[in-house]
Amino acid sequence: MAKKIVVIGSLNYDIILKIPRLPECGETLPADQAGFSAGGKGANQAVQAAKLGVETYMVGRVGKDAHGDALIESAQKYQVNTDYITRSEEVTGMGVVEALEDGSVFSCIVRGANFDVAKADIDRAEPVIREADLMILQMEIPQEINAYAIEKAEECGCRVLLNTAPSAPIEEEYLKKCAIIVANEVEAGFYLGENVDSVEKAIKGIKKLQNIYGNDIVITLGKEGSVVSDHGVVTFIPSRKVHAIETTGAGDSFIGGMGYALLKGESLTEACKFATGCSAITVSRMGAQDSMPTLQEVQNQ
Ligand code: ADP
Repeated sequence: MAKKIVVIGSLNYDIILKIPRLPECGETLPADQAGFSAGGKGANQAVQAAKLGVETYMVGRVGKDAHGDALIESAQKYQVNTDYITRSEEVTGMGVVEALEDGSVFSCIVRGANFDVAKADIDRAEPVIREADLMILQMEIPQEINAYAIEKAEECGCRVLLNTAPSAPIEEEYLKKCAIIVANEVEAGFYLGENVDSVEKAIKGIKKLQNIYGNDIVITLGKEGSVVSDHGVVTFIPSRKVHAIETTGAGDSFIGGMGYALLKGESLTEACKFATGCSAITVSRMGAQDSMPTLQEVQNQ
């Protein structure tokens, strides 16, 4: 039987506006460029795993609106199984990103249907969770549903990877039940209560987190790379030197890539090296889901 990943999380309809500057109060400012991108951390991670050839199931919610149709179509285009995406009375989750010429980015998010994800959705997906080798979670659905999913995974014997994005307080009991925790430097700083803006600080911080939670941990550090604590052995994995064009989805591509390599039976450290190759390609192209590589592209790198 083929190995499976189940991703439980968010789907967002992202609108990206390129603007020369922020508008003044009361001003209507024309945008230089506008675009749509299928997003949401959950959907992005599912798409990356599916693009690498993993049988991937997405559990989440979108509204009964055209944005919801577009997100389901996009996931299906990349072979993500969408049978467990439920249509909700709420509007589809949305992101509005305003990108200025100097590279600064301002975003607002509408949680919408993502916050309607319910225990019933997890129960409905139980047959898939039972067969899955890895459950991937993020923090863009209600915390209590993540907690329920973690318990369900434990009951079904499914390993959990939790991406603590965006960071929010989580009960220690649930963090301890996750086999792997992946945080970027901001999120790691949140849980440690101290700054993690260098490789040295990440190495120190990851040891502290490992001592508290006991699980395997990864801290990603943007263009620097990542630090991995794999059964207590800490390794720094530098990023690939590429010309980065757009870094949206770098972390999601990394997690989808990790999922693929873990299912192949790689150690966490080796999985992160593979994931580093995936995100290097993602950042060197425009877009999020569209820019994520196929297996062949990673192998040809
Ligand atoms: P997030 O998107 O969650 O904030 P990061 O920005 O830490 O995640 O990026 C995740 C991974 O993507 C990094 O560990 C690194 O391997 C890769 N990456 C990110 N930015 C770059 C870049 N500019 N060049 C090469 N690789 C990058």
